[in-house]
Amino acid sequence: MSRVYNFSAGPAVLPEEVLAQAGEELPEWHGSGMSVMEMSHRGKHFAAIAERAEADLRTLLDIPDAYHVLFMQGGASAQFALVPMNLAAPERKASYLNTGQWSAKAIKTAGAYCDVHVVADGKAGNYASVPPREQWDMADGSAYLHYTPNETIGGLEIHEPPDAFGAPLVADMSSTLLSRPIDVRRFGLIYAGAQKNIGPAGVTLVIVAPEVLPATPPRIAEVFDYAAVARAGSMLNTPPTYAWYVAGLVFQWLLRQGGLAAMGETNRRKAELLYQAIDGSDFYANPVDPQYRSWMNVPFTLVDPGLEGVFLAEAENVGLVELKGHRSVGGMRASIYNAMPVEGVETLISFMADFEQRHG
Ligand SMILES: *Cc1c(COP(=O)(O)O)cnc(C)c1O
Repeated sequence: MSRVYNFSAGPAVLPEEVLAQAGEELPEWHGSGMSVMEMSHRGKHFAAIAERAEADLRTLLDIPDAYHVLFMQGGASAQFALVPMNLAAPERKASYLNTGQWSAKAIKTAGAYCDVHVVADGKAGNYASVPPREQWDMADGSAYLHYTPNETIGGLEIHEPPDAFGAPLVADMSSTLLSRPIDVRRFGLIYAGAQKNIGPAGVTLVIVAPEVLPATPPRIAEVFDYAAVARAGSMLNTPPTYAWYVAGLVFQWLLRQGGLAAMGETNRRKAELLYQAIDGSDFYANPVDPQYRSWMNVPFTLVDPGLEGVFLAEAENVGLVELKGHRSVGGMRASIYNAMPVEGVETLISFMADFEQRHG
């Protein structure tokens, strides 16, 4: 087996142990005589898989018992609509912080379902920093404050959850959930597509405090209604069973690593190593305000953009792949999620130093 170091922003690298276990269990799961892919979602085997995954996730994040944990479909992009459909119907005000491309998409989508108010916009600083909270202008009577803790494309991360002016705090944690411990009690609702830091594409996690759900059911399809999905244990209809199972294997792997405190320390170290290498050279640069630099997605540029193609080709030759920046920003981006080992980051750093010597 020859595996590369995969720096893709998503779908992204998964732990090798998880892939090996999924491989072993692929044709036949634990004496059931069938693959997880072939099981009824209502049968006892899948029920055991689903329950264990939820219990492990609750342990990892220390989720209070009262919070609902939902395993949904549609990705984070569907949540851009479901959040206002559930929490701000009909046409209530909802406040949004705009820190970059994913916030902007959430804002645009929400506009069809609620009265969107942007509390602050990082545009003046080219989304390389976050406007100071004293300047945030929260709308009175907001159903919630929505923000994007980690902007996957810009590489901007808000390391502490902001105070939400008394409204429920809603967070799109697609590219940061499980990268470190968080205090779930600070949030009214957290959502995350799995394919960055959690598992395979196809399952979307929603963690929601029951008190933020509306007293009367919203006039939307049941499969979009958080309260209805919670009552049905995420099985109103067929859930993404295989993705749920693999996410569950990732949760078990995280527990074996020592949980999120240990993971957070490793992630902090990986990010520090890479930013130090970038800052220590005149050849590479990262534009983000150091206090908001992402631990998960590290964009960087080369002093001569003409060398980008050579950089990518040479990197790929030595097994460092998917380093091309997002098509909207160019440059490079190294996504260093939980499953990227420290050695992967160290190998990238030595390659970068070597490349600089030869081309700098
Ligand atoms: C990838 C990503 C999304 C979009 O996720 P989909 O599952 O493709 O809809 C939304 N928000 C953030 C922060 C992301 O990183």
